Amino acid sequence: MKTFISLALLVLVHLSYAQDIEVQINPDKVTDNIYLLYGAGGNIGLFLGEDGAVMIDDQFAKMSEKIMYVVDSLSETPIRYLINTHWHGDHTGGNAYFAEEGATIVAHENVRERLSHEQIRPFGRSTEAAPEIAWPKLTYNDEMQIHINGESLQLIHHHNAHTDGDAFIYFPSYNVLHMGDCFFRNRFPFIDVQMGGSPDGLIEAVAGALMLCDEDTKIIPGHGILSDKQDLLDYHQMLKIMRDRVKAEIKKATAEDALDFASLTKGFEAWGEGFISGEKFVKTLYKAYSEE
Ligand SMILES: [Zn+2]
Repeated sequence: MKTFISLALLVLVHLSYAQDIEVQINPDKVTDNIYLLYGAGGNIGLFLGEDGAVMIDDQFAKMSEKIMYVVDSLSETPIRYLINTHWHGDHTGGNAYFAEEGATIVAHENVRERLSHEQIRPFGRSTEAAPEIAWPKLTYNDEMQIHINGESLQLIHHHNAHTDGDAFIYFPSYNVLHMGDCFFRNRFPFIDVQMGGSPDGLIEAVAGALMLCDEDTKIIPGHGILSDKQDLLDYHQMLKIMRDRVKAEIKKATAEDALDFASLTKGFEAWGEGFISGEKFVKTLYKAYSEE
């Protein structure tokens, strides 16, 4: 029996390891010199040019070498700047690795604040402070521009949306927008209320993004495939409808355990097939608006 258990454990360990090493980094060409890299965690944006590469987000630490391999195969220059769209580990896990490779990390000041201190998360979990090399070295509080490769990248902060340190990165000459986790394509989003996120802030941030976009804008969501303005409009519409439905329940004084998740998510069933189910999303909204 003992042998069987150890064998079963060995197979399990091997399987989980195999799953990790099977996740590949797949580059998708957005323009001639901008790529979207899919892998495990948030979507990476990569801007290439003779002044140096700019990378937006870096997934988990275990993906760093694979990301570096793909960047090296696409870019003739090293990564000069690494922009974090927000502090979550599936977007900043590779910070230490890429900083050691010479990249300067750029982010909103709250990203540095959260990465440099232990964070207490829901359900008694906590996230330890990252090592100092992983902290952003260049921070801003509202907007910032990086002039590189003939482009003026715009870093635009929207307060209290997905977290309290979100940035959109807009490429005006190429009409490309990376939205970080303020945009989950065709999925209910995670809103990290405990870390300064808010549903109303998210709706406002998406409205701001829509003002930047036209029919030709290529939008990189935090999670999901390359999108366009119509996808973002659908997402904005979903957020507003879900807000109104949940607020109506609060107005009727419906208790949390009496919420009818199926009817509240009617028409958006497919949006709950990702990381955040319909029930989870409704509960997040209910809690956020009940506390107002
Ligand atoms: Zn996130």
